[in-house]
Amino acid sequence: MERMIVIGGGAAGMLAAIIAARNGKQVTLLEKNEKLGKKLFITGKGRCNLTNACDMEDLFRNIVTNHKFLYSSLYGFDNQTTMDFFEGLGLHLKTERGNRVFPESDHSSDVLRVLEQELRKQKVQVKLRTEVKEISVCDSVIQGVVLSDGSKLNGDKVIVATGGLSYPSTGSTGDGYRFAKTAGHTIQPCSPSLVPMETEETWCKEIMGLTLKNVSVTLNCGKKKIYEGFGEMLFTHFGVSGPLILSASAYTGKYLNESLVLKIDLKPALSESQLDERLQRDFFRYQNRQLQNAMDDLLPKKLIPIVIACSQISPDKKVNIITREERLQLVQTLKGLPLHITGFRDYKEAIITRGGVNVKEINPQTMESKLVKGLYFAGEVLDVDALTGGFNLQIAWSTGYAAGNA
Ligand SMILES: Cc1cc2nc3c(=O)[nH]c(=O)nc-3n(C[C@H](O)[C@H](O)[C@H](O)COP(=O)(O)OP(=O)(O)OC[C@H]3O[C@@H](n4cnc5c(N)ncnc54)[C@H](O)[C@@H]3O)c2cc1C
Repeated sequence: MERMIVIGGGAAGMLAAIIAARNGKQVTLLEKNEKLGKKLFITGKGRCNLTNACDMEDLFRNIVTNHKFLYSSLYGFDNQTTMDFFEGLGLHLKTERGNRVFPESDHSSDVLRVLEQELRKQKVQVKLRTEVKEISVCDSVIQGVVLSDGSKLNGDKVIVATGGLSYPSTGSTGDGYRFAKTAGHTIQPCSPSLVPMETEETWCKEIMGLTLKNVSVTLNCGKKKIYEGFGEMLFTHFGVSGPLILSASAYTGKYLNESLVLKIDLKPALSESQLDERLQRDFFRYQNRQLQNAMDDLLPKKLIPIVIACSQISPDKKVNIITREERLQLVQTLKGLPLHITGFRDYKEAIITRGGVNVKEINPQTMESKLVKGLYFAGEVLDVDALTGGFNLQIAWSTGYAAGNA
């Protein structure tokens, strides 16, 4: 019987192991942690947003890097198949806002539980606290793996599903990149993605904790617009975070050493002229107040002094003597409050890793290495990444399936 070794008991590795075992392979799953799926457990704030129930076009639109490479694997094991697979294991699912799919129980532990049950049922040999140190390759054919205690494990096929570099405490410490290099693969430069941003402006710290809903942001590099989106963001002691910011960060790969400016449109539902009319009405109503006391209807209190300062107007100026130019300056600021990005938070706070094993060297149907026979890669170790919403786990399931099935 063919012997298969899967390195990494995360989402991709567990799925690959189950599928290969269902296909009659003798499978050993090696995980360096004391338990499986440490990262899976913390996904979706402990609820595990395991896929997205959108149509395929939308699915591909949410993949930021190398979506074409994923065509075959995502069609081979798509989001509906993923849902059927988990329902088939007895896990009830529900779909929430934005087509995000969760276990009905809201517990990621239930996703993990059904996967572990199936691994047992399919007689996959799971070896915990077992760290792979190297893979062994001879004449471009995989031989097996070398464990950290120096012992060898032979296998006809090896699937590397070691994840990326983000949240290293879950076990994702980039070991797979090393294995890939041993096999002669190139690694596309890695960096944290879906990650909060640090800003030059220190006022973010003064209003940390403030969440803005229904705002739109644009991220620009010089005149080039890198990202535009609508939704929710949050100020922190170092800068900005929240869903909109994480999404914006996914598009910054090519611009990591450039100066980036984030602009927040605080009133995206109003055009500049509509907003100007709105300001005129407010100023008429509060004509005897100082500017700093005349904007409560328009903005969260904490943001008022910041917007006024950015507009370079004296906060104690009475609104009835504010000039048209000043008011238009205020409109400009409200439609594009600028923040200069100085950097990104590190892997400890990044949902995913951008970069990884060069997909040009991988067969997209099977996930097999084009350089070493019998060597496969699945999940985040590959140079693929997507936005939040269940898409990254879908990539892990689909590529795990492709590798396990091959
Ligand atoms: C906080 C957080 C929340 C997230 N929420 C979501 C979400 O709700 N929906 C979504 O789609 N995505 C989410 N993601 C992203 C998603 O978790 C990952 O994309 C996905 O887990 C990648 O799966 P993987 O199997 O490739 O890698 P991992 O899940 O990282 O698994 C890799 C495994 O390999 C093991 N390993 C590594 N090296 C070795 C070695 N040398 N020997 C043996 N074992 C090894 C590790 O210990 C680990 O268990 C989230 C990520 C984070 C950090």
